[in-house]
Amino acid sequence: MILIDGKKTSEILQSEIAQEVDNMKNKGEKVPHLAAVLVGHDGGSETYVAGKVKACERVGFESTLIRFEDTVSEKELLDCIGKLNLDSKIDGFIVQLPLPKHISEEKIIEAINPHKDVDGFNPVNVGRMVAGLPAFIAATPFGIMELIKRYGIETAGKNCVVIGRSNIVGRPISILLSQKGIDCTVTLCHSRTKNLKEICAEADIIVAALGMAEFLTGEMVKQGAVVIDVGITRVVSDKTKSGWKLLGDVKFDEVAPKCSYITPVPGGVGPMTIASLLYNTLLSTKREIYK
Ligand code: NAD
Repeated sequence: MILIDGKKTSEILQSEIAQEVDNMKNKGEKVPHLAAVLVGHDGGSETYVAGKVKACERVGFESTLIRFEDTVSEKELLDCIGKLNLDSKIDGFIVQLPLPKHISEEKIIEAINPHKDVDGFNPVNVGRMVAGLPAFIAATPFGIMELIKRYGIETAGKNCVVIGRSNIVGRPISILLSQKGIDCTVTLCHSRTKNLKEICAEADIIVAALGMAEFLTGEMVKQGAVVIDVGITRVVSDKTKSGWKLLGDVKFDEVAPKCSYITPVPGGVGPMTIASLLYNTLLSTKREIYK
């Protein structure tokens, strides 16, 4: 069994990005500049955005953090997006989700210029991905694909089961895995799927992205399968100082011994997401997606 080390892979990807930024600086080219828009004071969002800003510093990007109180109106936020769309200094930007209830996330995402949509949530980028055109791919599916490629995991003709059909993880990863060149035969499962146990037991590759702690048990996995665990659930624990711990969607102790490859939680898919965002920003600066 090979443990897929997302932390190490993310560090490698970030050092490659930092090297490229150095090259760009040496050639006198523009340094990538990522902006993040943060609304309100949600603890999780604050932590995520702070992590993104810090990561920018690490790889030599410029970054701008734009903050609004959670009383900001939808129009004010749309005006801010309009300005960022036009600002030639900004190569890419994100609006940290979730947003307060009085603001339509759909409207906000659609207002972002697809050329600067480094989160890959704008329907133009989603559509381009589905059509197999160059597109900004959302961070989590991008991170999973990067792990699969960098660990040399065989995908052509493999039976792949994705559990979960959300727009940010399950559905995009099911599309990417079925793309030409990756060539998995993908089954996309969800809460209404029947015989999930039997379907999983036939899979060569399982991507678990449903958000139910330790859902995938040993009996659902065949010998030699590859298991990618996307789930993150915070549970109370009397064994940690903080009083809580993170669990994935996979019952690791039962499943891992049967696997050829498996991602742990934490330290698997999670650490890849920031590196993916930086990579998209680099692609944007270099005009690699929209020429
Ligand atoms: P979501 O709630 O939007 O979607 C969950 C999906 O799972 C739904 O499509 C639903 O149909 C399916 N589902 C629910 N119960 C099921 C069941 N019993 N059997 C089969 N399918 C079932 O969740 P999401 O945003 O896609 O996130 C999923 C998990 O991944 C969460 O734990 C989330 O915290 C985690 N996540 C991790 C990362 C990361 O960086 N590692 C990123 C995004 C999300």
